[in-house]
Amino acid sequence: MTVTVRHSSIDLWAEFPDNKYVQRLLKHCRTMNIKLAGSPVREQWFYHPEQRTIYVWPPDLTYQSLSYLVVILAHELGHAMDFDSHPGHVAVIRNRHWSRTPLFIEQAAFVNGFCLLKQLQIPCSLDQYAAMIEPPMAERVVNEIENNHLCCLLSSPRRALSTPS
Ligand SMILES: [Zn+2]
Repeated sequence: MTVTVRHSSIDLWAEFPDNKYVQRLLKHCRTMNIKLAGSPVREQWFYHPEQRTIYVWPPDLTYQSLSYLVVILAHELGHAMDFDSHPGHVAVIRNRHWSRTPLFIEQAAFVNGFCLLKQLQIPCSLDQYAAMIEPPMAERVVNEIENNHLCCLLSSPRRALSTPS
């Protein structure tokens, strides 16, 4: 993946909201040996598999909703899960610009991300999850989860993400 990185001295881990679901996802980042860094691209988050780094757009940590942060962290971790289990996907994106990631790789990250939310017992219904995704991709993700990952769907009640912590 071709990316120009500027170094940032702020401690991004500490910049995330003190919310138990966000913190649970960050703990999972550490378990997977994934680092955080400031994104060099405005409003853009992405995962770099060879650096095992999630590039975070820092203003989002202050101005975006908790549900946005939960879904985007799950998505980036979903990329990490996909690249770890499909090394061939790393080769596919190696010489591409971050903005030209193939759709099937984005879809895999969203599907893995949803399963991760279920695994970590973070309440988010498929409807809520799909509402955070752009329409054509949202439909593909919902279809794949309903067809191939019904176990994820059934493992958790459909509670609201805003359930008090
Ligand atoms: Zn992505």
